[in-house]
Amino acid sequence: MYKRILLKLSGEALMGEKQFGIDNSRLDAYAAEIKDLHDTNVEIAIVIGGGNIFRGVQAADGGMDRTQGDYMGMLATMINSMALQASLEKLGLYTRLVSAIEMKEIAEPYIKRRAVRHLEKGRIVIFGAGTGNPYFTTDSAAALRAIEMDADVILKGTRVDGIYSADPEKDPNAVKFENLTFDEAYNKGLNVMDMTAFTLCKENDVPIIVFDMNTSGNLKKVVEGEKIGTLVTV
Ligand code: UDP
Repeated sequence: MYKRILLKLSGEALMGEKQFGIDNSRLDAYAAEIKDLHDTNVEIAIVIGGGNIFRGVQAADGGMDRTQGDYMGMLATMINSMALQASLEKLGLYTRLVSAIEMKEIAEPYIKRRAVRHLEKGRIVIFGAGTGNPYFTTDSAAALRAIEMDADVILKGTRVDGIYSADPEKDPNAVKFENLTFDEAYNKGLNVMDMTAFTLCKENDVPIIVFDMNTSGNLKKVVEGEKIGTLVTV
């Protein structure tokens, strides 16, 4: 169904059952799912958050300068990105870590044409350090890189199996949507991605699928076009 995808994983997803940091078994499980998809010749770009380690907003609530906190958050995404890269490489996959902040000892700088070329050659490209700017999130980084890479879709892997009318973990009457337009999601006040990311996707016609990444096999099924999760389109 899709030839080139951008997978967005939150940092919190990497915690698994832990309260902080990275759960290695969860990381390896994600890497295995990504390998299964890669084996079908889909081109894969990945953006990982850093919320399991550091968030600038929370640091600012505690009195830290927001910009300082946000840069720390961006560094946290690099730690997660490096961990996922290592996990993918253990499975024999070719990867490239590309950073929005220059760190030449550990990652390539972001150069659009070079990143596209990696994808064309079948390398898994992990985009670290978000957008490289404070006051953004990794959802926005995912939207931006998906547009720049001309990805067919953003796959937002979460713990929940789609977008619901209310929080399904709190409200038993919450109903799941299979399809939504960006306008419907906005009018209903649904939380798909933060507004910056949401608007970027809407204006550039990049569909988003929110799905449960913790169920084995789902990632591949979503890309094959199975109706899993919620599809948001223009
Ligand atoms: N961040 C940033 N600019 C970006 C991306 C991320 O400043 O372009 C910082 C911000 O402080 C954010 C943190 O990095 O809170 C971690 O990213 P995010 O909260 O998006 O991670 P997730 O919620 O996906 O785990």
